[in-house]
Amino acid sequence: MSNDNNLMEKIVSLCKRRGFIFPSSEIYGGINGFWDYGPYGSRMKRAIEALWWHEMVETRDNVEGLDSTIICHPQVWKASGHLDQFSDLMTDCRDCKNRFRVDQMEDPTTCPNCGSKNMTEPREFNLMMKTFVGPVFDDEHTAYLRAETCQPIFVDFHSVRIAARQKLPFGIAQVGKAFRNEINPRNFTFRSREFTQMEMEFFCDDAEGMEWFEYWKTQRVNFYKNKLGFTEDCYRIYEHEKLAHYAKAAIDIEVQFPFGWGELEGIHHRGTWDLSRHSEFSGEDLQYMDHDNGRKVMPTVIETSVGLDRMFLAILSHAYDEDTAATAKEGMEEDVRVVLHLPALVAPVQVAVLPLSKKLSESAGNLYADLNRHFRCEFDVTGSIGKRYRRQDEIGTPYCVTLDFDTENDKAVTVRERDSMAQERIGIDNLRNYLEDAIGI
Ligand code: ATP
Repeated sequence: MSNDNNLMEKIVSLCKRRGFIFPSSEIYGGINGFWDYGPYGSRMKRAIEALWWHEMVETRDNVEGLDSTIICHPQVWKASGHLDQFSDLMTDCRDCKNRFRVDQMEDPTTCPNCGSKNMTEPREFNLMMKTFVGPVFDDEHTAYLRAETCQPIFVDFHSVRIAARQKLPFGIAQVGKAFRNEINPRNFTFRSREFTQMEMEFFCDDAEGMEWFEYWKTQRVNFYKNKLGFTEDCYRIYEHEKLAHYAKAAIDIEVQFPFGWGELEGIHHRGTWDLSRHSEFSGEDLQYMDHDNGRKVMPTVIETSVGLDRMFLAILSHAYDEDTAATAKEGMEEDVRVVLHLPALVAPVQVAVLPLSKKLSESAGNLYADLNRHFRCEFDVTGSIGKRYRRQDEIGTPYCVTLDFDTENDKAVTVRERDSMAQERIGIDNLRNYLEDAIGI
Protein backbone atom coordinates (compact mmCIF):
# COMPACT_ATOMS: atom_id res chain seq x y z
CA MET A 1 0.00 0.00 0.00
CA SER A 2 1.23 3.45 -0.88
CA ASN A 3 2.82 5.09 2.16
CA ASP A 4 1.01 8.37 2.15
CA ASN A 5 -0.78 10.33 4.86
CA ASN A 6 -3.26 11.70 2.37
CA LEU A 7 -4.01 8.36 0.79
CA MET A 8 -7.67 8.37 1.78
CA GLU A 9 -8.18 11.86 0.38
CA LYS A 10 -6.54 10.82 -2.86
CA ILE A 11 -8.71 7.72 -3.13
CA VAL A 12 -11.90 9.68 -2.39
CA SER A 13 -10.94 12.28 -4.97
CA LEU A 14 -10.06 9.70 -7.63
CA CYS A 15 -13.32 7.86 -6.95
CA LYS A 16 -15.31 11.03 -7.51
CA ARG A 17 -13.32 12.25 -10.53
CA ARG A 18 -13.42 8.96 -12.38
CA GLY A 19 -16.90 7.85 -11.43
CA PHE A 20 -16.23 5.05 -8.98
CA ILE A 21 -18.02 6.33 -5.88
CA PHE A 22 -19.58 9.65 -4.92
CA PRO A 23 -21.85 10.91 -2.13
CA SER A 24 -25.50 10.00 -2.45
CA SER A 25 -27.88 12.93 -3.14
CA GLU A 26 -24.92 15.23 -3.64
CA ILE A 27 -26.89 18.10 -5.20
CA TYR A 28 -28.79 18.30 -1.90
CA GLY A 29 -25.60 18.34 0.12
CA GLY A 30 -25.31 14.55 0.46
CA ILE A 31 -26.58 12.33 3.25
CA ASN A 32 -24.09 11.09 5.78
CA GLY A 33 -23.22 7.40 5.47
CA PHE A 34 -24.75 6.83 2.01
CA TRP A 35 -22.73 6.43 -1.18
CA ASP A 36 -23.50 5.93 -4.88
CA TYR A 37 -21.37 3.81 -7.20
CA GLY A 38 -20.89 5.41 -10.62
CA PRO A 39 -20.18 3.78 -13.99
CA TYR A 40 -16.76 2.28 -13.14
CA GLY A 41 -17.69 1.70 -9.50
CA SER A 42 -20.82 -0.26 -10.30
CA ARG A 43 -18.91 -2.39 -12.82
CA MET A 44 -16.22 -3.17 -10.28
CA LYS A 45 -18.69 -3.78 -7.46
CA ARG A 46 -20.59 -6.29 -9.58
CA ALA A 47 -17.34 -7.97 -10.58
CA ILE A 48 -16.29 -8.40 -6.93
CA GLU A 49 -19.70 -9.73 -6.04
CA ALA A 50 -19.63 -12.15 -8.98
CA LEU A 51 -16.18 -13.36 -7.95
CA TRP A 52 -17.37 -14.02 -4.39
CA TRP A 53 -20.55 -15.73 -5.60
CA HIS A 54 -18.62 -17.89 -8.03
CA GLU A 55 -16.15 -18.87 -5.32
CA MET A 56 -18.71 -19.48 -2.58
CA VAL A 57 -21.74 -20.85 -4.46
CA GLU A 58 -21.21 -21.72 -8.11
CA THR A 59 -18.12 -23.84 -7.64
CA ARG A 60 -19.53 -25.75 -4.65
CA ASP A 61 -22.17 -28.47 -4.63
CA ASN A 62 -22.76 -28.00 -0.94
CA VAL A 63 -23.60 -24.28 -0.89
CA GLU A 64 -26.96 -22.93 -2.15
CA GLY A 65 -27.93 -19.35 -2.96
CA LEU A 66 -30.73 -17.24 -1.52
CA ASP A 67 -32.14 -13.82 -2.38
CA SER A 68 -34.45 -12.81 0.44
CA THR A 69 -36.38 -9.62 1.17
CA ILE A 70 -34.88 -6.66 2.99
CA ILE A 71 -37.95 -6.29 5.20
CA CYS A 72 -38.79 -9.40 7.21
CA HIS A 73 -41.36 -10.22 9.86
CA PRO A 74 -40.40 -8.06 12.87
CA GLN A 75 -40.23 -11.17 15.05
CA VAL A 76 -37.12 -12.19 13.09
CA TRP A 77 -35.26 -9.33 14.76
CA LYS A 78 -36.74 -10.12 18.15
CA ALA A 79 -35.48 -13.71 17.86
CA SER A 80 -32.06 -12.64 16.60
CA GLY A 81 -31.64 -10.30 19.54
CA HIS A 82 -31.26 -7.22 17.34
CA LEU A 83 -34.25 -5.37 18.76
CA ASP A 84 -33.08 -5.79 22.33
CA GLN A 85 -29.32 -5.87 22.02
CA PHE A 86 -28.14 -4.48 18.71
CA SER A 87 -27.01 -1.21 20.10
CA ASP A 88 -23.92 0.82 20.70
CA LEU A 89 -23.17 2.88 23.78
CA MET A 90 -22.97 6.49 22.78
CA THR A 91 -22.24 9.81 24.37
CA ASP A 92 -23.04 13.35 23.21
CA CYS A 93 -20.90 16.42 23.54
CA ARG A 94 -23.12 19.12 25.05
CA ASP A 95 -20.90 21.84 23.58
CA CYS A 96 -20.30 20.91 19.93
CA LYS A 97 -23.37 18.61 19.76
CA ASN A 98 -21.45 15.73 18.16
CA ARG A 99 -22.27 12.14 19.07
CA PHE A 100 -19.68 9.38 19.52
CA ARG A 101 -19.48 5.62 20.02
CA VAL A 102 -17.97 5.04 23.45
CA ASP A 103 -15.99 1.97 22.31
CA GLN A 104 -14.25 4.08 19.67
CA MET A 105 -13.15 6.89 22.01
CA GLU A 106 -9.76 7.05 23.61
CA ASP A 107 -11.26 8.82 26.59
CA PRO A 108 -15.07 8.79 26.85
CA THR A 109 -15.00 11.79 29.20
CA THR A 110 -13.41 14.06 26.58
CA CYS A 111 -14.93 15.13 23.26
CA PRO A 112 -12.61 14.03 20.40
CA ASN A 113 -13.95 16.90 18.30
CA CYS A 114 -13.67 19.98 20.54
CA GLY A 115 -11.90 18.67 23.64
CA SER A 116 -14.80 19.58 25.95
CA LYS A 117 -15.36 17.58 29.12
CA ASN A 118 -19.06 18.34 29.00
CA MET A 119 -20.21 14.88 27.84
CA THR A 120 -23.54 13.17 28.51
CA GLU A 121 -23.72 9.84 30.35
CA PRO A 122 -23.30 6.98 27.82
CA ARG A 123 -26.68 5.74 26.48
CA GLU A 124 -27.73 2.73 24.42
CA PHE A 125 -28.58 3.52 20.81
CA ASN A 126 -30.30 0.88 18.68
CA LEU A 127 -28.90 0.53 15.17
CA MET A 128 -31.96 -0.98 13.47
CA MET A 129 -33.62 1.25 10.85
CA LYS A 130 -37.37 1.48 11.27
CA THR A 131 -40.16 1.75 8.74
CA PHE A 132 -43.89 1.01 8.56
CA VAL A 133 -45.67 -1.62 6.54
CA GLY A 134 -49.28 -0.83 5.65
CA PRO A 135 -51.29 2.37 5.82
CA VAL A 136 -51.10 2.99 9.57
CA PHE A 137 -47.94 4.38 11.12
CA ASP A 138 -48.08 2.87 14.60
CA ASP A 139 -46.23 0.28 16.68
CA GLU A 140 -48.27 -2.58 15.30
CA HIS A 141 -47.16 -1.76 11.74
CA THR A 142 -43.53 -1.12 12.54
CA ALA A 143 -41.00 -3.11 10.54
CA TYR A 144 -37.23 -2.96 10.18
CA LEU A 145 -34.75 -2.88 7.35
CA ARG A 146 -32.50 -5.89 7.84
CA ALA A 147 -29.33 -5.16 9.75
CA GLU A 148 -27.60 -8.22 8.32
CA THR A 149 -28.30 -10.62 5.48
CA CYS A 150 -27.87 -13.81 7.49
CA GLN A 151 -31.09 -13.84 9.53
CA PRO A 152 -33.35 -14.65 6.55
CA ILE A 153 -30.97 -17.52 5.79
CA PHE A 154 -31.76 -19.08 9.18
CA VAL A 155 -35.47 -18.43 8.77
CA ASP A 156 -35.50 -20.10 5.32
CA PHE A 157 -33.28 -23.01 6.42
CA HIS A 158 -35.89 -25.74 5.89
CA SER A 159 -37.30 -24.27 2.65
CA VAL A 160 -33.86 -24.11 1.05
CA ARG A 161 -32.76 -27.52 2.38
CA ILE A 162 -35.87 -29.28 1.12
CA ALA A 163 -35.96 -27.50 -2.26
CA ALA A 164 -32.28 -28.23 -2.92
CA ARG A 165 -32.43 -31.75 -1.39
CA GLN A 166 -29.39 -30.94 0.75
CA LYS A 167 -28.16 -32.98 3.68
CA LEU A 168 -25.88 -31.77 6.46
CA PRO A 169 -23.26 -30.41 6.10
CA PHE A 170 -24.24 -27.70 3.63
CA GLY A 171 -24.34 -23.91 3.38
CA ILE A 172 -26.63 -21.11 2.24
CA ALA A 173 -25.21 -17.87 0.87
CA GLN A 174 -26.74 -14.50 0.21
CA VAL A 175 -25.60 -11.11 -1.10
CA GLY A 176 -27.67 -8.04 -0.41
CA LYS A 177 -28.21 -4.73 1.26
CA ALA A 178 -28.03 -4.27 5.00
CA PHE A 179 -28.88 -1.12 6.95
CA ARG A 180 -27.49 0.15 10.23
CA ASN A 181 -28.11 3.49 11.79
CA GLU A 182 -24.41 3.89 12.57
CA ILE A 183 -23.73 6.72 14.98
CA ASN A 184 -20.52 7.76 13.31
CA PRO A 185 -20.43 6.85 9.62
CA ARG A 186 -16.84 7.51 8.60
CA ASN A 187 -13.74 6.51 6.73
CA PHE A 188 -15.44 6.81 3.36
CA THR A 189 -17.47 3.65 2.66
CA PHE A 190 -15.86 1.64 5.49
CA ARG A 191 -18.67 2.48 7.89
CA SER A 192 -21.82 3.30 5.96
CA ARG A 193 -25.47 3.27 6.93
CA GLU A 194 -26.53 1.36 3.84
CA PHE A 195 -24.12 -1.29 2.60
CA THR A 196 -23.95 -4.67 0.92
CA GLN A 197 -23.06 -7.85 2.75
CA MET A 198 -21.94 -11.19 1.34
CA GLU A 199 -22.64 -13.88 3.89
CA MET A 200 -22.59 -17.66 3.98
CA GLU A 201 -23.99 -19.79 6.79
CA PHE A 202 -22.70 -23.36 6.86
CA PHE A 203 -24.84 -25.86 8.75
CA CYS A 204 -23.19 -28.94 10.23
CA ASP A 205 -23.28 -31.41 13.08
CA ASP A 206 -22.03 -29.79 16.29
CA ALA A 207 -19.27 -32.41 16.64
CA GLU A 208 -17.76 -31.24 13.33
CA GLY A 209 -18.11 -27.51 14.04
CA MET A 210 -14.47 -26.69 14.80
CA GLU A 211 -13.25 -28.64 11.78
CA TRP A 212 -15.53 -26.67 9.48
CA PHE A 213 -14.54 -23.42 11.19
CA GLU A 214 -10.89 -24.12 10.35
CA TYR A 215 -11.85 -25.16 6.83
CA TRP A 216 -13.70 -21.92 6.10
CA LYS A 217 -10.96 -19.83 7.65
CA THR A 218 -8.46 -21.35 5.22
CA GLN A 219 -10.84 -21.02 2.28
CA ARG A 220 -11.45 -17.36 2.92
CA VAL A 221 -7.78 -16.48 3.42
CA ASN A 222 -6.96 -18.33 0.19
CA PHE A 223 -9.61 -16.30 -1.62
CA TYR A 224 -7.86 -13.08 -0.66
CA LYS A 225 -4.43 -14.43 -1.52
CA ASN A 226 -5.22 -16.21 -4.76
CA LYS A 227 -8.10 -14.25 -6.25
CA LEU A 228 -7.34 -10.74 -5.02
CA GLY A 229 -3.57 -11.00 -4.73
CA PHE A 230 -3.38 -9.91 -1.06
CA THR A 231 0.18 -10.33 0.19
CA GLU A 232 1.06 -11.56 3.71
CA ASP A 233 1.84 -8.04 4.94
CA CYS A 234 -1.52 -6.53 4.03
CA TYR A 235 -3.83 -8.74 6.08
CA ARG A 236 -3.80 -10.32 9.52
CA ILE A 237 -6.03 -12.59 11.58
CA TYR A 238 -7.50 -11.22 14.76
CA GLU A 239 -8.73 -13.90 17.17
CA HIS A 240 -11.58 -12.77 19.40
CA GLU A 241 -10.88 -13.35 23.06
CA LYS A 242 -14.26 -12.14 24.22
CA LEU A 243 -16.90 -14.26 22.53
CA ALA A 244 -20.68 -13.95 22.41
CA HIS A 245 -22.08 -16.39 25.01
CA TYR A 246 -23.25 -18.83 22.29
CA ALA A 247 -20.12 -18.63 20.12
CA LYS A 248 -17.32 -21.20 20.19
CA ALA A 249 -14.73 -19.34 18.11
CA ALA A 250 -14.48 -16.14 16.09
CA ILE A 251 -11.83 -14.48 14.00
CA ASP A 252 -11.69 -11.37 11.87
CA ILE A 253 -9.66 -11.01 8.74
CA GLU A 254 -8.30 -7.51 9.10
CA VAL A 255 -6.64 -5.51 6.37
CA GLN A 256 -4.74 -2.31 6.26
CA PHE A 257 -6.92 0.61 5.21
CA PRO A 258 -5.50 4.13 4.80
CA PHE A 259 -6.65 4.92 8.36
CA GLY A 260 -5.11 1.75 9.85
CA TRP A 261 -6.10 -1.87 10.42
CA GLY A 262 -9.81 -2.59 10.10
CA GLU A 263 -12.14 -5.58 10.03
CA LEU A 264 -12.88 -6.81 6.54
CA GLU A 265 -14.48 -10.20 7.17
CA GLY A 266 -15.66 -12.15 10.19
CA ILE A 267 -15.64 -15.94 10.47
CA HIS A 268 -17.72 -17.15 13.36
CA HIS A 269 -18.61 -20.45 14.98
CA ARG A 270 -22.14 -19.60 16.19
CA GLY A 271 -23.06 -22.95 17.69
CA THR A 272 -26.76 -23.84 17.55
CA TRP A 273 -27.85 -20.39 18.73
CA ASP A 274 -29.51 -19.04 15.58
CA LEU A 275 -31.68 -22.00 14.65
CA SER A 276 -32.59 -22.61 18.31
CA ARG A 277 -33.76 -19.02 18.73
CA HIS A 278 -35.84 -19.04 15.55
CA SER A 279 -37.35 -22.41 16.57
CA GLU A 280 -38.28 -20.92 19.92
CA PHE A 281 -39.77 -17.70 18.57
CA SER A 282 -41.57 -19.13 15.52
CA GLY A 283 -42.73 -22.40 17.06
CA GLU A 284 -41.34 -24.17 13.97
CA ASP A 285 -38.90 -26.99 14.75
CA LEU A 286 -35.73 -26.15 12.79
CA GLN A 287 -33.91 -29.33 13.79
CA TYR A 288 -32.50 -31.55 11.09
CA MET A 289 -33.59 -35.19 10.83
CA ASP A 290 -30.71 -37.38 9.74
CA HIS A 291 -32.44 -40.27 8.00
CA ASP A 292 -29.16 -42.21 7.74
CA ASN A 293 -28.95 -42.70 11.50
CA GLY A 294 -32.42 -41.67 12.69
CA ARG A 295 -30.96 -38.81 14.76
CA LYS A 296 -32.51 -35.35 15.10
CA VAL A 297 -30.00 -32.53 15.61
CA MET A 298 -30.05 -28.77 15.87
CA PRO A 299 -27.39 -27.79 13.31
CA THR A 300 -24.38 -25.79 14.34
CA VAL A 301 -23.54 -22.78 12.17
CA ILE A 302 -20.23 -21.52 10.81
CA GLU A 303 -20.57 -18.08 9.29
CA THR A 304 -18.41 -16.16 6.86
CA SER A 305 -19.48 -12.53 6.66
CA VAL A 306 -17.95 -9.75 4.63
CA GLY A 307 -19.01 -6.29 3.49
CA LEU A 308 -18.83 -5.80 -0.27
CA ASP A 309 -18.18 -2.09 0.16
CA ARG A 310 -15.32 -2.81 2.56
CA MET A 311 -13.84 -5.34 0.17
CA PHE A 312 -14.05 -2.70 -2.58
CA LEU A 313 -12.32 -0.13 -0.37
CA ALA A 314 -9.66 -2.64 0.73
CA ILE A 315 -8.87 -3.44 -2.91
CA LEU A 316 -8.68 0.26 -3.81
CA SER A 317 -6.46 1.04 -0.81
CA HIS A 318 -3.94 -1.58 -1.88
CA ALA A 319 -4.21 -0.74 -5.55
CA TYR A 320 -3.61 3.00 -5.39
CA ASP A 321 -0.13 4.05 -6.38
CA GLU A 322 1.74 6.96 -7.83
CA ASP A 323 4.95 6.58 -9.77
CA THR A 324 6.80 8.54 -12.39
CA ALA A 325 6.60 7.87 -16.07
CA ALA A 326 8.06 9.43 -19.18
CA THR A 327 5.98 12.24 -20.59
CA ALA A 328 5.76 14.15 -23.84
CA LYS A 329 4.62 17.26 -21.95
CA GLU A 330 6.58 20.31 -22.86
CA GLY A 331 9.53 21.02 -20.60
CA MET A 332 9.11 17.75 -18.67
CA GLU A 333 10.71 14.38 -19.04
CA GLU A 334 8.79 12.66 -16.29
CA ASP A 335 5.34 13.08 -14.86
CA VAL A 336 3.43 11.57 -11.92
CA ARG A 337 1.49 8.52 -13.02
CA VAL A 338 -1.53 7.59 -10.89
CA VAL A 339 -2.10 3.90 -11.28
CA LEU A 340 -4.52 1.47 -9.70
CA HIS A 341 -2.93 -1.97 -9.50
CA LEU A 342 -6.33 -3.64 -9.45
CA PRO A 343 -6.62 -7.41 -9.73
CA ALA A 344 -7.50 -8.00 -13.41
CA LEU A 345 -10.51 -10.12 -12.44
CA VAL A 346 -12.29 -7.18 -10.82
CA ALA A 347 -10.98 -4.19 -12.80
CA PRO A 348 -13.89 -2.16 -14.20
CA VAL A 349 -12.18 -2.15 -17.58
CA GLN A 350 -10.07 -5.21 -18.31
CA VAL A 351 -9.09 -4.35 -21.87
CA ALA A 352 -8.95 -0.92 -23.51
CA VAL A 353 -8.89 -0.83 -27.30
CA LEU A 354 -6.95 2.20 -28.56
CA PRO A 355 -6.46 2.87 -32.26
CA LEU A 356 -3.27 4.84 -32.81
CA SER A 357 -5.09 7.12 -35.24
CA LYS A 358 -8.73 8.04 -35.86
CA LYS A 359 -8.26 6.58 -39.35
CA LEU A 360 -8.06 3.14 -37.75
CA SER A 361 -11.34 3.59 -35.87
CA GLU A 362 -13.34 1.22 -38.00
CA SER A 363 -11.09 -1.85 -37.71
CA ALA A 364 -10.42 -1.03 -34.03
CA GLY A 365 -14.18 -0.74 -33.49
CA ASN A 366 -14.67 -4.23 -34.90
CA LEU A 367 -11.97 -5.66 -32.66
CA TYR A 368 -13.52 -3.86 -29.68
CA ALA A 369 -16.97 -5.32 -30.41
CA ASP A 370 -15.43 -8.76 -30.61
CA LEU A 371 -13.40 -8.49 -27.38
CA ASN A 372 -16.27 -6.84 -25.52
CA ARG A 373 -18.19 -10.12 -25.68
CA HIS A 374 -15.54 -11.75 -23.50
CA PHE A 375 -14.03 -9.00 -21.37
CA ARG A 376 -15.10 -5.69 -19.82
CA CYS A 377 -13.78 -3.36 -22.54
CA GLU A 378 -13.56 0.30 -23.36
CA PHE A 379 -12.88 2.00 -26.67
CA ASP A 380 -10.97 5.29 -26.64
CA VAL A 381 -9.81 7.22 -29.64
CA THR A 382 -9.41 10.73 -28.20
CA GLY A 383 -6.10 12.35 -27.25
CA SER A 384 -2.52 11.22 -27.63
CA ILE A 385 -1.75 7.57 -26.96
CA GLY A 386 0.26 8.57 -23.86
CA LYS A 387 -2.74 10.42 -22.45
CA ARG A 388 -4.99 7.48 -23.14
CA TYR A 389 -2.62 5.10 -21.35
CA ARG A 390 -2.65 7.43 -18.32
CA ARG A 391 -6.44 7.51 -18.30
CA GLN A 392 -6.54 3.73 -18.30
CA ASP A 393 -3.82 3.46 -15.63
CA GLU A 394 -5.86 5.70 -13.37
CA ILE A 395 -8.88 3.40 -13.50
CA GLY A 396 -6.74 0.26 -13.21
CA THR A 397 -7.12 -1.20 -16.72
CA PRO A 398 -4.61 -4.06 -16.82
CA TYR A 399 -4.30 -4.33 -20.63
CA CYS A 400 -4.37 -1.77 -23.42
CA VAL A 401 -4.57 -3.05 -26.98
CA THR A 402 -3.24 -0.64 -29.59
CA LEU A 403 -3.90 -0.92 -33.30
CA ASP A 404 -1.45 0.83 -35.61
CA PHE A 405 -0.80 1.12 -39.34
CA ASP A 406 1.10 -2.21 -39.36
CA THR A 407 -1.90 -4.07 -37.97
CA GLU A 408 -3.47 -4.51 -41.37
CA ASN A 409 -0.32 -6.17 -42.74
CA ASP A 410 0.88 -8.28 -39.82
CA LYS A 411 -2.59 -8.96 -38.33
CA ALA A 412 -1.16 -8.12 -34.92
CA VAL A 413 -1.64 -5.52 -32.19
CA THR A 414 0.47 -4.12 -29.36
CA VAL A 415 -0.60 -5.18 -25.89
CA ARG A 416 0.62 -2.93 -23.10
CA GLU A 417 0.63 -4.22 -19.54
CA ARG A 418 -0.30 -1.67 -16.86
CA ASP A 419 2.16 -2.45 -14.05
CA SER A 420 5.37 -3.05 -16.02
CA MET A 421 4.27 -0.84 -18.94
CA ALA A 422 5.87 -3.56 -21.11
CA GLN A 423 4.57 -3.84 -24.66
CA GLU A 424 4.24 -7.02 -26.66
CA ARG A 425 3.15 -7.68 -30.23
CA ILE A 426 0.37 -10.27 -30.30
CA GLY A 427 -1.36 -11.83 -33.32
CA ILE A 428 -5.08 -10.98 -33.43
CA ASP A 429 -5.93 -14.68 -33.87
CA ASN A 430 -4.32 -15.42 -30.55
CA LEU A 431 -5.44 -12.26 -28.74
CA ARG A 432 -8.45 -13.63 -26.89
CA ASN A 433 -6.48 -16.63 -25.53
CA TYR A 434 -3.61 -14.38 -24.57
CA LEU A 435 -5.88 -12.01 -22.63
CA GLU A 436 -7.83 -14.81 -20.96
CA ASP A 437 -4.58 -16.31 -19.67
CA ALA A 438 -3.26 -12.96 -18.56
CA ILE A 439 -6.45 -11.99 -16.74
CA GLY A 440 -6.86 -15.44 -15.21
CA ILE A 441 -10.32 -16.21 -16.57
P1 ATP B 1 -17.81 -3.27 13.10
O1 ATP B 1 -17.19 -3.79 14.37
O2 ATP B 1 -16.81 -2.70 12.13
O3 ATP B 1 -19.00 -2.37 13.34
P2 ATP B 1 -19.29 -5.66 12.99
O4 ATP B 1 -18.42 -6.56 13.77
O5 ATP B 1 -20.51 -5.07 13.59
O6 ATP B 1 -18.39 -4.51 12.33
P3 ATP B 1 -20.58 -7.64 11.48
O7 ATP B 1 -21.89 -7.40 12.12
O8 ATP B 1 -19.83 -8.87 11.85
O9 ATP B 1 -19.66 -6.37 11.65
O10 ATP B 1 -20.78 -7.53 9.89
C1 ATP B 1 -20.06 -8.33 8.99
C2 ATP B 1 -19.32 -7.51 7.96
O11 ATP B 1 -20.18 -6.54 7.38
C3 ATP B 1 -18.16 -6.72 8.52
O12 ATP B 1 -17.00 -7.51 8.60
C4 ATP B 1 -18.01 -5.61 7.50
O13 ATP B 1 -17.24 -6.05 6.38
C5 ATP B 1 -19.43 -5.38 7.05
N1 ATP B 1 -19.99 -4.20 7.73
C6 ATP B 1 -20.51 -4.16 8.98
N2 ATP B 1 -20.93 -2.92 9.28
C7 ATP B 1 -20.68 -2.16 8.19
C8 ATP B 1 -20.89 -0.78 7.87
N3 ATP B 1 -21.48 0.05 8.72
N4 ATP B 1 -20.50 -0.33 6.66
C9 ATP B 1 -19.91 -1.16 5.76
N5 ATP B 1 -19.70 -2.47 6.01
C10 ATP B 1 -20.07 -2.98 7.20
